[in-house]
Amino acid sequence: MVSDDATAARLTPDAVWAALDDVPDPEIPVVSVVELGMVREVRVDGDRVHVDLTPTFAGCPAFHAIRAAVEGRLAALGAREVEVHRRLAPPWSSDDLTDAARRKLADFGIAPPAPHGGAPLPLLDAPVACPRCGSLDTELTSAFGSALCREIHRCRSCLEPFERFKPL
Ligand SMILES: [Zn+2]
Repeated sequence: MVSDDATAARLTPDAVWAALDDVPDPEIPVVSVVELGMVREVRVDGDRVHVDLTPTFAGCPAFHAIRAAVEGRLAALGAREVEVHRRLAPPWSSDDLTDAARRKLADFGIAPPAPHGGAPLPLLDAPVACPRCGSLDTELTSAFGSALCREIHRCRSCLEPFERFKPL
C-alpha cells in the first residue's frame, strides 16, 4: 500500500512529464509522445492528473492507443484519475518535434521534416536528405507511406526508398 502522502510526493508535474516521456508513439516507437511535441499541458490536482494532448495529424487513428498508454503509465505512477483531453488548437506542427525526435527519426530511417518556422506550405520543394547516405539527390515517389503522416521518397544515390515524416 502506498500512502496518499507518498503518492502526492511522486505526482509532480515533472514526474508526470518524465513518465510521459516513456510513452512511445504507436506508429514510430523510437520516439515518445513528449519528443513528438504532442503533450501540450500537464496539470496535477492531488492524485488526479490532466493531460492535454494534440494529435500529430487530425483524425490520427493512433490517438486512442496513445490515450490508453498515457492513462496506463500515469496510473502506474500513482494517479488515481487520469483525464486526457484532446486539444486541437493550436494544431500540431512538425516544428513541435524536438531535436531528439528528429535525430531518432533519422536513425530509424525516416527523414525528419525540415523546420519551417510556420512558413506557409512548408518547403515541399526543398530537397529531402536520404537518412541512409545523406544524399540530397532524392525524389518523392508516393505521398502516402505506411502511415498518414509519412510519404515515400527514393534516393537516387543509394537507390533505397525511404519514408519521410511529412512537414505540417
Ligand atoms: Zn541514399
